[in-house]
Amino acid sequence: MKEFEELKPFLLRKRELRHLSSIIYYDMQTRAPIDGLEDEADIWGGIDTQYNEIIKSPEYIKAVKDFAFAPGKDLQLQRLADLLLREVEDNERLTLKQLEEWNKAISESNSAWRQAKKTNDFQSWLPHFEKLVELKKGLLRIKKKDCHETLYDVALDEYEPGETQKQLDAVFGPLKKTLLELLPQVMKRQENADIPAVLPHSIDSQRHLTPKLLELIHYDLSRGAIAESAHPFSDALGINDARITTEYDLEDYHGNLSTVLHEGGHCIQFQNWPKSHYDLFLENYATAALCETHSRFYENLLGKSRELAPRLLSLCRETFGEEFLTMTEEQFYRGENVVKPSLIRCDADELTYSLHIIIRYELERDLLNGDLEPKDLPKKWNEKYKEYLGVDVPSDSLGCMQDTHWSEALFGYFPSYALGNLYGAQIMKAMEKDLDIKGLLAKGDLLPIRKWFAENDFAYDYLKPEDWIIKVTGEKLNPQYFIDYLKDKFLA
Ligand SMILES: [Zn+2]
Repeated sequence: MKEFEELKPFLLRKRELRHLSSIIYYDMQTRAPIDGLEDEADIWGGIDTQYNEIIKSPEYIKAVKDFAFAPGKDLQLQRLADLLLREVEDNERLTLKQLEEWNKAISESNSAWRQAKKTNDFQSWLPHFEKLVELKKGLLRIKKKDCHETLYDVALDEYEPGETQKQLDAVFGPLKKTLLELLPQVMKRQENADIPAVLPHSIDSQRHLTPKLLELIHYDLSRGAIAESAHPFSDALGINDARITTEYDLEDYHGNLSTVLHEGGHCIQFQNWPKSHYDLFLENYATAALCETHSRFYENLLGKSRELAPRLLSLCRETFGEEFLTMTEEQFYRGENVVKPSLIRCDADELTYSLHIIIRYELERDLLNGDLEPKDLPKKWNEKYKEYLGVDVPSDSLGCMQDTHWSEALFGYFPSYALGNLYGAQIMKAMEKDLDIKGLLAKGDLLPIRKWFAENDFAYDYLKPEDWIIKVTGEKLNPQYFIDYLKDKFLA
């Protein structure tokens, strides 16, 4: 198609710049010396400027519009056109001055938050946070379309196109009710469980476990890389390059185990997109919830299952020896699945995790819709932690300032994590119709699972989430699968 061919050079250049930006980011987070960071950050910023120059250039905008309005596109090209046009139109609504003011507010808020978190001083961050919320609301008003009922709908649209506050309320409402009923019952059952103490393991021995875990899930090490960073992440740099980072804790090997399966799960998706995704520039268009579906699937639905526990235990025996030699499979499984209401979202168990997310969802929804003032955030946060999780929040650093998201104006992102859990449980049911998952996990054979994903899921993840989940499972999102999964797992 002529219009696509004319657009291609721009898309290739955008891809190159994104690749370079990812390499520098990966380096800054993992290997770069502290004194070299400033220079590297400047170069990183320069690449960002070049990228913005392309997407703001009249030539690029014309090429996108010609392509978007040309007839005769197939489903995949139409989707690409819709996504590119949306990006262009959103950009066109904002002036360069507004964008600059916005980026400055984010960077000031983020550095004030870093300092405030260190000193537990919410009041010092508050003026920056108030400004950020006001600016965000202004930008959302500019972007608001007829399909958006609330400002929060506009924010959601940036991460989960098509998702609405109404839909989330309908999904999170019953989920919250069930979780609040389940939690005390599960805690009671767990009281007498035989849960082994966690002993320290050298960082070096934990480093040996990482590739074994990645091999188990069939992450392709020849098309990936592993490094260490304070905040683990993964990134799809290109068709043959999907990297992860992890973090080692001497006192607790669980963190690395979960992180590697989580980030490895992300990369299973990146490494198994069909080549046509790359030919048509459709890589990296899966939404945040679609990506979190696969990472949380590998981390929890597979990684914390009773069936995979013997295999993971034997890898721990090979790597660590010591207490794992006498630990039973049942003890190992229990140790992987301790339910414990806590202050921190990141290490939360499968049951309480969604409550952490629902709290954030309710608060950010109210902030953007004007039902909650930024100054009242700590009070509301603490009330919800007490009400939902029974936890007393001792400080704002461990409370409403614990995540970086709001300091960078990432409003509307948190629901992706909980949606990922819901999608995952529904996909598990669909997969069970084709595969004996329990049998495969017991054998430690995860290859058919990766192949199933590639054929039935990843090949379609450029679709809108509402269409994608129907394509993969035959029905629209139904939270009951996740609720049933939790009941089966923790109460059976
Ligand atoms: Zn993730």
